[in-house]
Amino acid sequence: VSGKKPNIIVFLVDDMGWQDTSHPFWSDSQGTPKKTFLNRRYRTPNMEKLASQGMTFTDAYAHPLCTPSRVSLMSGMNPARHRVTCWVREQNGTTDANSRSLLPPDWALNGLQPIGTPARGTTKRPISGEDMRYHMTRPFATAVTLPEMLKKCGYVTVHCGKAHFGTQGTPGSNPLNMGFDYNIAGTEIGHPADYRGSRHYGKGFNHVRGLDENNYYQDDVFLTEALTREAIKRLEAIRTNPREAGKPFYLYMAHYALHSPLDERAYDKRFADAYKNPEDGHKWSRTEKHYSGLIEGMDKSLGDIMKYLREHHLEKNTVLVFMSDNGGLSAEPAWRDGELHTQNAPLNSGKGSAYEGGIREPMIVKWPGVTAAGTICEKPLIIEDFYPTILEMAGIKQYKTVQKIDGVSFMPLLNHTGDPSEGREFYWNFPNLWGNTGPGIGATATIRKGDWKLIYYYESGRKELFNIREDIGETRNCEEQYPKLVKKLSKRLGNYLRKVKAQRPAYKATASPVPWPDEVR
Ligand code: CA
Repeated sequence: VSGKKPNIIVFLVDDMGWQDTSHPFWSDSQGTPKKTFLNRRYRTPNMEKLASQGMTFTDAYAHPLCTPSRVSLMSGMNPARHRVTCWVREQNGTTDANSRSLLPPDWALNGLQPIGTPARGTTKRPISGEDMRYHMTRPFATAVTLPEMLKKCGYVTVHCGKAHFGTQGTPGSNPLNMGFDYNIAGTEIGHPADYRGSRHYGKGFNHVRGLDENNYYQDDVFLTEALTREAIKRLEAIRTNPREAGKPFYLYMAHYALHSPLDERAYDKRFADAYKNPEDGHKWSRTEKHYSGLIEGMDKSLGDIMKYLREHHLEKNTVLVFMSDNGGLSAEPAWRDGELHTQNAPLNSGKGSAYEGGIREPMIVKWPGVTAAGTICEKPLIIEDFYPTILEMAGIKQYKTVQKIDGVSFMPLLNHTGDPSEGREFYWNFPNLWGNTGPGIGATATIRKGDWKLIYYYESGRKELFNIREDIGETRNCEEQYPKLVKKLSKRLGNYLRKVKAQRPAYKATASPVPWPDEVR
């Protein structure tokens, strides 16, 4: 290995569930990886290949929705601290669902903004570069971002795909303001209006901007493919540019796939129609065919990037991290087949939920010379850990940030030098209402310590306790059986939330804040 810092690729898939792959992330009670019926349904040969060359993480966590996870990845903070606890859209606009009993918290609904951003000013419109005025009358978060740190330390930083960090028209909506040297198609939007090139990636607010200068429209190139080609084109430009070729790169490859829409707008004619074989008696609806096609298209992108690295001898000095930002969608019958909340089985529920289905993610890390091939790590970690870990990968150990970093480096798991999860507590705070309902979905605060997980529902004051090692599907609430443990975990969770000045909803009737988890029995 040369002394050169490694290139780093974070391959982040949107809304990808733990089981949306042919690579198994679930093990039986003996610890042997087992393919589930969903693993047999989907096709991700390149993920399988990546896993055979690297380390599979079975207990990798994110947060229940897009923006909170993405801001945690960019800042190293837990959402309880950064307060971007729900997804962002229009400037000063909330995305909270209406509630009969709760008032939403005063969360950072303008998303993540660069350090020193004034509440009002002028910024460049992403993609077109024209100036636009903004005025943020509602809160936002700030942080020294991960790409900014990497850039300062000599990395060329590339953003490709979905950004979704800050609201429309604000500096944070533009990846170029967030520490990236290059931006491909990243704006404030959280999903594409259309995946099809022939439809110009849709119209209106969610039109994917920045891909109209090539022949993607004319050639009807699917969005996932267009982003992959653009990313590789950028890597090749860096490799052949004398000013950049000597520098390591950071590629944040953030696919719009697998987010809805999943109707004809997600029809990838290269893959979708092949999903018709009723091997397990499964009858494919159009939307499930599209979903499977989106998965396979995403996997092809992974394979194309791996091929590029191999062909240009970059493979040995490149870390490839595969991750998703929240669980697979399972609460919206218009998009998914089958019984609601079963689409991430054996996990219960999905996107938006505090249950494992909403937060447990498919994660793989390949770092030649560090991660042993085909290994499995069952230690838990969480997406804010990426910040300190990636900086450590880049050899950056001493650094100052204005924000307090909640993440803990998982480097010792990669090189087998320790276990940072030992005795650690993991926290989630989602004090908002998403709109959909289902198991574990609602305004919640959650703690995991060891195999135990406690969920507190802000609206009802109800608590649930699960042993997720023995009951991964979270079907046996044992809150009544273990009152002392419930009390202890409630206290730990309450202490953490107060310490980081987390937010909570209030009662509509009285406008007084709802109790912290340790303030109710
Ligand atoms: Ca997402």
